[in-house]
Amino acid sequence: MKNLIQQVIEAQHRFRNSWDEVPHEETTAIPINKMESVLSELEERLKNNYPFYHPRYAAQMMKPPHEIAVAAYLMAMQINPNNHALDGGPATAKMELEVIQNIAHMFGYKQHLGHLTSSGTIANLEALWIARSIHPEKAIAFSSSAHYTHSRMCRVLGIQGIEIPVNDNHTIDLNALEQELKQGTIGTVVATLGTTGVGALDKLQEIIPLCKKYGVRVHADCAYGGFFTLLARNPQPIINAEPFLALPEADSIVVDPHKHGLQPYGCGCIVFKDPTIGKYYKHDSPYTYFTSKDLHLGEISLECSRAGAAAAALWATLQCFPLQHDKGLGMILQKTRRSALLWNDEIKKYSSLATFVQPQLDIVTYFPVPKNSSATKVSLLSEKIFHNAMNHSEQPVYLAKFIVDSSIIKRNIPSFELDQPQTTILRSVLMKPEHFQFISQCIKEIAALTEE
Ligand SMILES: *Cc1c(COP(=O)(O)O)cnc(C)c1O
Repeated sequence: MKNLIQQVIEAQHRFRNSWDEVPHEETTAIPINKMESVLSELEERLKNNYPFYHPRYAAQMMKPPHEIAVAAYLMAMQINPNNHALDGGPATAKMELEVIQNIAHMFGYKQHLGHLTSSGTIANLEALWIARSIHPEKAIAFSSSAHYTHSRMCRVLGIQGIEIPVNDNHTIDLNALEQELKQGTIGTVVATLGTTGVGALDKLQEIIPLCKKYGVRVHADCAYGGFFTLLARNPQPIINAEPFLALPEADSIVVDPHKHGLQPYGCGCIVFKDPTIGKYYKHDSPYTYFTSKDLHLGEISLECSRAGAAAAALWATLQCFPLQHDKGLGMILQKTRRSALLWNDEIKKYSSLATFVQPQLDIVTYFPVPKNSSATKVSLLSEKIFHNAMNHSEQPVYLAKFIVDSSIIKRNIPSFELDQPQTTILRSVLMKPEHFQFISQCIKEIAALTEE
């Protein structure tokens, strides 16, 4: 990192040395020791964080960006290009078009229109906004396990959002969906490939033909799970490949490089299958024909200012970690996926622990099984384990909590007492390849806490 940062600093020198010197400016001049002491204070204050980089942090969907992303971001940020307009950052705008091309290709789109966004929320907002533009009078359907952004954005856009129930494995109930589709009120269905809670994969391969039958569009929210597409093309996939292989048929796809793409926050992405949807973004002279090359990024995105540095960081990262199943990012995702599978196997060794749903990607959900187990007992124990694991004096482990319908547990454990409708269980997102080697020890520690 030191070497990389050195190179970043020198690059900035070279960039500035190509113009004549800027005279000293006193309003922006601050003594170096003042800035140093502020940074020291910042360091202190930042200690109030969990160690997201460490395998002992097995909780939320969080990890630091890769070194190459940090260095590239810093290099570009010192120039501070704005990818809203071509003249705001010609170099980084070109990088953005290149990475979008790579991502669209990864999903199997033959042509596309798309861009980076500052988050998955904004990317999904754009997808739903286009959905509304195409079917102004119609509703948007999503499952009850979809990210809450969909119901929220429907309210923002003033369109009706229809929540479809899920099966026990948290995927959208296709019969319930068809019942709604028959009403003729839905214009777009949102499929989630990798729900944020348990990583469940909606059956896109069945949703697509169903929606075709009713003339309805499909948006795929792959904010968390999108990059697992890489594993679907593997000759022996270690994931359920079918939903991912149907992605080329989806009308739009969202993926978050700031989740599984090794990027710092501020990097989401939306791609549309049909480039002509660019007409809905147009704010002045209406064109009649669009290709992705015709339009500036600012003309095809809802946001105005956006960090060119985010595009530079993703571009640099993809040079080091290509979007392939047998190297680069694919290797990392294979490892995180294998971590979830290993976790599941290890859990089976302890009678005091049980799996909630079979992991489909790299999120695991599990719970302690006390004698005469009930919803209140499991919830109380989960809370205790969560708390004691985090506060362990020598070996802290950071886990997340997750609230589920008690009836789902009851179907697997008939003696489970339903004394409250919901149960708190435990959840871990194993999104760092470093988790793999730590898993058997981690579960041993959790099991020990459970026994205690
Ligand atoms: C994280 C996530 C979002 C929201 O994305 P942000 O980048 O957090 O704004 C939307 N949908 C899914 C499925 C997600 O996992």
